[in-house]
Amino acid sequence: MLIGGGVMSATLGTYLQELEPQWNIEMVERLDKVAEESSNGWNNAGTGHSALAEMNYTPEKDDGSIDISKAVEINESFQISR
Ligand SMILES: Cc1cc2nc3c(=O)[nH]c(=O)nc-3n(C[C@H](O)[C@H](O)[C@H](O)COP(=O)(O)OP(=O)(O)OC[C@H]3O[C@@H](n4cnc5c(N)ncnc54)[C@H](O)[C@@H]3O)c2cc1C
Repeated sequence: MLIGGGVMSATLGTYLQELEPQWNIEMVERLDKVAEESSNGWNNAGTGHSALAEMNYTPEKDDGSIDISKAVEINESFQISR
């Protein structure tokens, strides 16, 4: 039984169906439609990413030092957009 019709139930249900096709899997959703809460694109898309945690913005250079210029640029843009 999958409680809630968000992306987590949809993903887990899909995986379980692949792994255990004989299982009887049921999903219940309290609202009229699925994906109306966090999984709705209007509720989670377009949020700011400050580049404080995305490691791809701080690549390691050949000499072992860390290049933070991209992270600084992204963070400045993030502060402006706020
Ligand atoms: C503002 C914001 C920004 C985000 N930004 C990002 C991002 O940039 N990148 C990223 O990867 N993730 C982001 N996320 C996170 C991502 O959206 C969520 O982690 C994901 O959508 C959660 O999915 P879920 O299925 O667990 O929950 P939900 O999509 O919330 O689904 C839960 C469902 O369960 C239902 N439910 C609750 N209680 C019951 C009950 N008792 N019985 C039946 N149904 C019930 C609800 O109605 C709902 O439909 C963001 C989230 C928010 C809120």
